Amino acid sequence: MTMLSRRGLCLVLSAPSGAGKSSVSRALLEREPELRLSVSATTRQPRPGEQEGVHYFFREHAEFQRMIAANELLEHAEVFGRCYGTPRAAVEAALAAGRDVLFDIDWQGHRLLRAALPGDVLGVFLLPPSLAELERRLHGRGQDSAEEIARRMHAAQDEISHYGDFDHVLVNEDFHHTVDRVRAVLHAGRCARARLPWLPGFVGGLLGT
Ligand code: GDP
Ligand code: ADP
Ligand code: 5GP
Repeated sequence: MTMLSRRGLCLVLSAPSGAGKSSVSRALLEREPELRLSVSATTRQPRPGEQEGVHYFFREHAEFQRMIAANELLEHAEVFGRCYGTPRAAVEAALAAGRDVLFDIDWQGHRLLRAALPGDVLGVFLLPPSLAELERRLHGRGQDSAEEIARRMHAAQDEISHYGDFDHVLVNEDFHHTVDRVRAVLHAGRCARARLPWLPGFVGGLLGT
């Protein structure tokens, strides 16, 4: 193992729907070339503009069940009555190659991923400045029906109650400030002592032991 190599880390961004995960994820991926998005599988319908294999792998319920049975998902959970899951192979290959992987998944996915990949997960939870602002953003996004927005607002407080599972919690008020702070978390995570397998040997050399 060369001195610069390290195992990749899993950066999980979670938040109640509408708090800004997708927007923050997009900005992070533009600024962090070593970071790749984990593309989830889902049984929900594509929204306008969403592309197969880019935003999600859109699957029928039966195919999703087959993926679970074949152990092809690192974690899966039901969110808003639909199935979402993380394909295993791409994540394992990226981590082994020293690339970091970004996950836009819910609190259940974060908990399951921590159990599946102990030591590899850095969890960041985004909070909205207020519930009124959350609702304003869901309407402003203009992609969900009034009924769907009501469902997501209803679920928001339950999701927020899980903030204690996460390593880092940020209020997404000013967008650019939020992106900068998530980048700082990522950069700090990369030099965590436990992620640098070459470190004991390197320090041994410095100490002449
Ligand atoms: P989606 O992934 O297609 O749903 O895109 P978003 O919902 O993230 O973005 C919808 C619109 O909001 C786009 O026109 C963005 O440029 C804009 N937008 C993104 N981030 C922000 C922000 O922090 N503040 C404001 N006011 N608008 C934003
Ligand atoms: P999520 O992926 O968490 O459901 P989105 O990223 O789609 O949320 O954000 C929901 C809406 O809120 C989008 O229209 C987005 O542009 C807007 N938004 C995100 N962050 C902010 C922010 N800091 N200030 C104002 N609007 C924001
Ligand atoms: P949306 O339908 O708005 O894209 O996502 C709905 C919710 O499902 C979000 O909270 C999102 O984080 C979550 N989600 C997306 N992909 C996954 C996944 O692979 N696993 C889990 N557990 N949750 C996911």
